[in-house]
Amino acid sequence: MAGAPFDDRDGFIWYDGALVPWRDAKVHVLTHALHYASCVFEGERVYGGLVFKLREHSQRLADSANILGFELPVSVDEVEDATRAVVEANGIVDGYVRPLAWRGSEMMGVAAQGSKIHVAIACWLWPSYFSPEAKLKGLRLAISDWRRPAPDTAPTASKAAGLYMICTLSKHKAEAAGYDDALMFDYRGQVAEATGANIFFVKDGKLHTPKPDCFLDGITRRTVIDLARMHGIEVVERAIQPAEMEGFEQAFLTGTAAEVTPLREIGPYNFEVGTVTKTLMETYENLVRGRLRD
Ligand code: PMP
Repeated sequence: MAGAPFDDRDGFIWYDGALVPWRDAKVHVLTHALHYASCVFEGERVYGGLVFKLREHSQRLADSANILGFELPVSVDEVEDATRAVVEANGIVDGYVRPLAWRGSEMMGVAAQGSKIHVAIACWLWPSYFSPEAKLKGLRLAISDWRRPAPDTAPTASKAAGLYMICTLSKHKAEAAGYDDALMFDYRGQVAEATGANIFFVKDGKLHTPKPDCFLDGITRRTVIDLARMHGIEVVERAIQPAEMEGFEQAFLTGTAAEVTPLREIGPYNFEVGTVTKTLMETYENLVRGRLRD
């Protein structure tokens, strides 16, 4: 992404209880999280100065930490207050928020029970994850060689940094081949999700989406399911085999950053940007902009 590097910007980052100048929010190289991936994080969007679904995201940060075996040193209420404070301090009206929690540098080795838990929250201007043109025409997804791990192989319900290793590899390979992103299958070979977003398909006016039993049950995913039902659109959560994509008419991604983004291609399969997708894009936009009752 173009622009100033993320460690060299003006503004403030909330770091272990205080707002610190952006460039001072540092960690030591002997930080457990950096060596052993003991880090969890969130991605949130600010619309018109308000963080959308702040409670859900703050709670998920605490839950993700618990899944990795540590407790946040602050309450969920305090995370919320800190988030509002950092958004305000940076004057962000439409942007992105990145809270994270990680094990520090008191112990260096696989075991690190005694390490201090740190929490930081940063935010920045970030109008759109995919380009407006791609959002209009639909994205092109490659199919990744990497598979989402089984729930007894990795802590898949946590938004843990370590789970993104295969996402970065998948997205780099897809982009190198000219695609926008990649679709990942799971350990059983079923359709799972993209590298940073959940996936939905449309067939005969109904939505079909994989059951989130080995990947993140996105907050946007759950929101879009509610919106679809509000529109009287049936939603089927089930195992989806790759070959079924042949018969699906529309496909779209959901995520805090991706919002509702249509797909036009996944590997050999083609989709249209149809009415159901457009309706949900518009309703989601209305909801986050406060033009619809939550
Ligand atoms: N899956 C992955 C791997 C993600 O990174 C995200 C983005 N957080 C999602 C799904 C969607 O989650 P949410 O709607 O809560 O942002």
